[in-house]
Amino acid sequence: MTASGNRPTIHEANQLLKSRKLSSVELTRACLERIKEAEPKVHALVTVTDQAALKQAEAADKLLAQKDNHNPLTGIPVLIKDNMCTKGVRTTCSSKILENFIPPYDATVVEKLNNAGAVVLGKANMDEFAMGSSTENSALFTTGNPWDLSRVPGGSSGGSAAAVAAGETIYALGSDTGGSIRQPAGFCNVVGLKPTYGRVSRYGLVAFASSLDQIGPLTQDVTDCALVLNAIAGYDPRDSTSVPHPTPDYTRCLSAELKGLKIGIPKEYFVAGIQPEVEAAIRTAIDKLAGLGARIDWEVSLPHTSYALAVYYIIAPSEASANLARYDGVKYGFSYKETDNMWTAMEKTRQHGFGAEVKRRIMLGTYALSAGYYDAWYLKAQKVRTLIRREFDRLFEKFDALVTPTSPTTPFKIGEKTDDPLQMYLSDVCTIPVNIAGLPAISIPAGFADGLPIGMQIIGKPFSEETILKIAYAYEQATDWHKHKPNL
Ligand code: GLN
Repeated sequence: MTASGNRPTIHEANQLLKSRKLSSVELTRACLERIKEAEPKVHALVTVTDQAALKQAEAADKLLAQKDNHNPLTGIPVLIKDNMCTKGVRTTCSSKILENFIPPYDATVVEKLNNAGAVVLGKANMDEFAMGSSTENSALFTTGNPWDLSRVPGGSSGGSAAAVAAGETIYALGSDTGGSIRQPAGFCNVVGLKPTYGRVSRYGLVAFASSLDQIGPLTQDVTDCALVLNAIAGYDPRDSTSVPHPTPDYTRCLSAELKGLKIGIPKEYFVAGIQPEVEAAIRTAIDKLAGLGARIDWEVSLPHTSYALAVYYIIAPSEASANLARYDGVKYGFSYKETDNMWTAMEKTRQHGFGAEVKRRIMLGTYALSAGYYDAWYLKAQKVRTLIRREFDRLFEKFDALVTPTSPTTPFKIGEKTDDPLQMYLSDVCTIPVNIAGLPAISIPAGFADGLPIGMQIIGKPFSEETILKIAYAYEQATDWHKHKPNL
């Protein structure tokens, strides 16, 4: 294994590990070397746990030597977005307020990966508290897009996506509240899945907007995505919104043919202002799906789509304002000490600890929830949320899946949208409705414009991850976009 950017996928690495052609320690070392080489340019990682990773790799090699070990993730390096708790390892949320927070427990997803024998390389950079679309809101540093370092990797899981694209890790975990797995996946030419709300436990995920947040995989291909979902999905009594549905083997549904599947193309997602190359690439990709046997209806409509962004920017900040009330400098995290007055201490802790975007959201949310405004804003937003969800339900009576662009543009320049929050918010027009309705959706590589990646989004009905993975897999088999790697 060399330190170059080309990494095996999970399923390839698993074959190499099982046949003893490669050891987990070798694979882990290759990733750590690649991290050393790429990090000065990409800046995707907040923390590298190299010593712990090598220990896990040694343990994994012992497990792999036992014949009855069949877990496909054993011995394979992974990177965790820095908003998932890792026992004994700093979990910053890329915020000053949690810069030195060391959780005493693992998030359920981390526990599950550890039990599978995974090798955790470290923690990935993100927008502070997952609020953003470019990773520029990180209070620590900005991550570059491996395809063009002067551009953003997307966000908020930008560190996770950039690290997978740059070959610093075999796969990563991200979280998605309004698009934060899918949009960076699209921007970095990797696969990103947001599962159905309730499919994956949120226990140990630092809460942003609890009715929207979901954890999911960022991987090099669709097979890997199914393998990681197998490992992290399932009921968790520690998360009251986790759903006790049985978890199928998500690799079983992967087949190269789409005969009989009905796919709708909602016209509202080809919005005014969409980059023409993105529209052209997605239309070509949809023709490809038709060629694979899917029945395409180009004239589908979701008329309430245009309200989704407004609904999101009431509901998400409202929930955030409640969730972030706990950062008062008393229980954990940064604490302002230069005062004897408790109220001043709390005020200064929050003033110095939170960045501008987080403060903006707390103010928006507090306003929307305040007496006299609650009915006009929050309650109204919840009603429109129901309308949006029902509209999807109705379409899914006729269709198995919907296909859209993941984002209306290719990756933009670092600094291009930081002065205009509304422009930044528009980056998620295609992904946000999915969270509003709690649906599963995947972004897969679907082309390039001027050397920059374009993502295609496939949306499914609740708990139909198998269907969207199947469509994604068939498309991936028929194309080779996912094989393109950036030249770093
Ligand atoms: N970009 C959206 C926001 O800023 C979504 C973020 C996310 O999914 N975590 O809220």
